[in-house]
Amino acid sequence: MTNNIAEALNSAYNAITEFQTKQQLNQQSRLIAVSKTKPAASVALAYQAGQRAFGENYVQELVSKATELQQLAGIEWHFIGPIQSNKTKDIAQYADWVHSVERLKIAERLSAQRPLDKAPLQVLLQVNISGEESKSGIKPDELLQLADAVAQLPQLQLKGLMAIPEPGKGAQAFEQMQKLSLQLQQQHPDAKELSMGMSDDWQEALRFGSTMIRLGTAIFGAREKQTHD
Ligand SMILES: *Cc1c(COP(=O)(O)O)cnc(C)c1O
Repeated sequence: MTNNIAEALNSAYNAITEFQTKQQLNQQSRLIAVSKTKPAASVALAYQAGQRAFGENYVQELVSKATELQQLAGIEWHFIGPIQSNKTKDIAQYADWVHSVERLKIAERLSAQRPLDKAPLQVLLQVNISGEESKSGIKPDELLQLADAVAQLPQLQLKGLMAIPEPGKGAQAFEQMQKLSLQLQQQHPDAKELSMGMSDDWQEALRFGSTMIRLGTAIFGAREKQTHD
């Protein structure tokens, strides 16, 4: 297992660079290594291989891994899972980025609970891009209003958008997201980030302007079924 993570990371970096070159894509894109359900030791191996940004879906896991690995300089925690209002305090304390903000009430709590000695929390708004089936995310036609409100909150910085399209709806959904992102940037020029693309569809996502691709399986291998949280 040990070397596999470093090898998987390196092939992912190479595949991403190769794809960007071949497609002549200009945007900078970062890889977020999604470490949910994987032990802190696996995160540490990825860190040693040069990876700095890690994605977590479950608050307990975020807290325990961020605490255990706090001595790793420059490590960056991205919270990408659903947010319950009774969990915002831990997220505000331990995350550097939150990709899954979809309600003003949650954003207000994150801002109020973000410790003042830390940089503002970097926030993406999750958009429900493929309609009814997916329950998470703000509707596209309510997005700009939420963005305006979130941008006012003192301990948050609005950085962009995130989406998890239904499997098979990738291209169309990613294209819609790219349009929404450009609309958002007219009002909020610093909100340029577009978090989309996972192990199965990252290439498609990059073609439509993704700046953050979230790879779990491709880096850390298959996950066991989740039982907690
Ligand atoms: C689990 C997860 C990922 C990673 O998925 P893989 O298919 O393992 O790459 C990305 N984003 C979110 C929001 C996730 O929950």
